[in-house]
Amino acid sequence: MAALKPTLVRGGLESLYFTGAHHLLKPLVGGVGAILTLHHVRPGRPGRFQPNRLLEVTPRFFTRVVEDLRRSGVDLVSLDEMHRRLTEGDFARRFVCLTFDDGYRDTLQIAYPIMKAEGAPFAVYVATSFPDRLGELWWLALEAVIARNKRIGLAIDGRNQTFDCATVGEKRALYEELYWWLRARPAEPEMRQVVRDLAACYGVDIAAFCKDLCMDWEELAQLAADPLVTIGAHTVNHPMLAKLPDKAARSEMDLSRSIIEAGLAVRPAHLSFPIGDRTSAGPREFAVAAELGFKTAVTTRPGVLFPQHRNQLTRLPRISLNGEYQRLRYVRVLLSGSATAMWNGFRRLEAA
Ligand SMILES: [Zn+2]
Repeated sequence: MAALKPTLVRGGLESLYFTGAHHLLKPLVGGVGAILTLHHVRPGRPGRFQPNRLLEVTPRFFTRVVEDLRRSGVDLVSLDEMHRRLTEGDFARRFVCLTFDDGYRDTLQIAYPIMKAEGAPFAVYVATSFPDRLGELWWLALEAVIARNKRIGLAIDGRNQTFDCATVGEKRALYEELYWWLRARPAEPEMRQVVRDLAACYGVDIAAFCKDLCMDWEELAQLAADPLVTIGAHTVNHPMLAKLPDKAARSEMDLSRSIIEAGLAVRPAHLSFPIGDRTSAGPREFAVAAELGFKTAVTTRPGVLFPQHRNQLTRLPRISLNGEYQRLRYVRVLLSGSATAMWNGFRRLEAA
């Protein structure tokens, strides 16, 4: 979804809503339930250069979404309950799972009290290098480098290049260009090294993002102690798994589960693939997650759940609550399955 132009997406969501097409399509494409993806829930911040704003929604919007789901009569369920319904074919009522990726502190401080007040279960997928304070939130380091400088230099394909980024427009364009160039690097270590070098060169402390934004083990333990909360695995280092060699990919998934078990005394039964698009998780990752015994694994590929997903439990689609589209009507259209059905060419399951 990140690759679709925001104006196109917004236009599509609006037209589905205002034409009422999402109601007409619902019996065909609505499926039996859905999994929502969230990252940050926190108040909006000033500043026009916020390339990662899609990863955050405001507490007010989040509260309205949860209330709207409650009012619409869907069941808010845990991942275990979703797994039970899918495997037993219990589709008497539509259900939604709320999931939070990465383990940000605002999940504990802001989202948790809202969910607690509603008595609603949710899951947090933790990349264990984040509470261990060794993680690299490289997309934020890139943002900071561009935000704090008027011009930056970078060797691309062996050639030194300079980029102007004095204005907000230039910063946005440069972030977009460099972000997707980095994402296209064939190997994860190369990508990380480029960002590390950039950060070092421009005085950005990559490690600080973890400390400032992510829960530590004590904070995670507070969440883990509540039966409403499922702690899931999200690898150790948050890599694009599909770009790693076999052994490394497997160990990222397996080790993160053991580290969480050691830290929180709960063994995660559910996994979220970092980044989670086609370039990050593919057939090999789906197979390994199943072999390792995860009950479910989720991607970020957009879609609602159908009964047939019982045969694809380690490649479940999700619907992102995107900070660029904080309108209840967009969420309603997305949960109706009509928008994602169009994006997926009306296929219920992904082609292998
Ligand atoms: Zn993540």
